[in-house]
Amino acid sequence: MEEHRAFVAKRTSCPLSRAKRGGRGKRRREGDCMHREPLIMVCTCEMSGRVRGKGFPARDVAARMAAGVGWVPTNAMINAFSKIPATPFGTGGDLILVPDPKTEVKVDFGDGSANEHFFLGDIRQLDGTPWECCPRDFARRALAALKETAGVELYSAFEHELVYTGVGSMPGEPYSLDAYRRQGSFGEHFMAALKAAGAEPETFLPEYGARQYEFTVRPALGLASADRAVVAREMARATAHRMGHRAIFSPILDPNGVGNGVHVHFSFRDEHGGSATHDPSDAFGLSKIARHFAAGVLHHMPALCAITAPSAVSYIRLRPNRWAPTIADMKQQDRGAAIRICPVIPGPDVARQFNLEFRVADSAASPWLALGALVWAGVDGLKRKLDLGSEGPPLPATMAAALDALDASAEAKQWMGPVFHNAYLIHKRGELAGLEGLDEKAQCDLYAETY
Ligand code: GLU
Ligand code: MG
Repeated sequence: MEEHRAFVAKRTSCPLSRAKRGGRGKRRREGDCMHREPLIMVCTCEMSGRVRGKGFPARDVAARMAAGVGWVPTNAMINAFSKIPATPFGTGGDLILVPDPKTEVKVDFGDGSANEHFFLGDIRQLDGTPWECCPRDFARRALAALKETAGVELYSAFEHELVYTGVGSMPGEPYSLDAYRRQGSFGEHFMAALKAAGAEPETFLPEYGARQYEFTVRPALGLASADRAVVAREMARATAHRMGHRAIFSPILDPNGVGNGVHVHFSFRDEHGGSATHDPSDAFGLSKIARHFAAGVLHHMPALCAITAPSAVSYIRLRPNRWAPTIADMKQQDRGAAIRICPVIPGPDVARQFNLEFRVADSAASPWLALGALVWAGVDGLKRKLDLGSEGPPLPATMAAALDALDASAEAKQWMGPVFHNAYLIHKRGELAGLEGLDEKAQCDLYAETY
């Protein structure tokens, strides 16, 4: 009876039921005034690059911060198409996915829909130690190795391109005010969501491709930058979803079009927070740390691609005339290079502005895996004091070739550990096998449904 009374009281105070009486003119939807138990989700972003997790009642959050939610090793093997073609883990094993309190996202879109309330988490063994295939731990270990090797932290920002389905394509759209206008209020709702999620939005613009937009967020130190990328993609999807559309991050939607890149801008900060990236006396303006790091990235590029550009269609994007890289090179202010040395505006803070841009990534990659792979490769360059050579080799032409390079890389096997390295190869090779017989357009269509 008490419960029933509460239900009635809630109904009569609901603004939407006032609307039904003609008060506010809002359309009433079924279920709007029913009881709600707020939920929170804890999520990871594993090899498939999809954000997956489990939800629980918000009132249990304190207990869940410690115990997490149950997770299964083979979840990591669910590929982009929701299939598990093969798994080294079988049906056994138990893990926990434990929320990191620093990553809480709680965004109320103000439209009556459930809040976007989630944490990002770490996958751990039941005893609390990191699981060897935890993507976030892969990045965390790489960043720790960077600090140990060179005494610096990575300061980075992921720049994203996406296709918004809420606009039609028309000639003349690149960078146009008209394309900017025709996306309606998506951009503003999205920026508000990013801000509410703590992702510090910086820019939003119509890009070159059909229905393509780009956004940037402020850089962050260490792991927080990859966390921010995971959140930012979800905020774009969450906003578009509420508007009845989609934000598609797939690496390329049309084999004859341009791709959706992810460009990771990075620089180094020393222990006092000062920039450790720039040296005006160097031909490229690079500090020793930046030079060895970049040389390591270029050296490991073929294997790296398998992690940072990890889908079949990623290699349709990485072709000539798409403003996307095709060889393992570094160039000053060149958007065709694998690593671009970004321009600085003359002034007192040149050293702080100075940054490099890794352009070989896309949104099929988990940001933690992409950042981790980039940093591991750079750390190897630092350890071996590698220097920049002449122009590097071509990037792998296919995902299969990139996987062969990853397979053959003893260093990558070391960074990932043998279990993760093996699982990664099985995961991605299984995904490729499922695409056999499909032409490029059909492959693009499939990936567009996922990402
Ligand atoms: N869309 C291009 C890519 O796939 C990048 C264009 C740009 O320079 O922003 O990476
Ligand atoms: Mg762009």
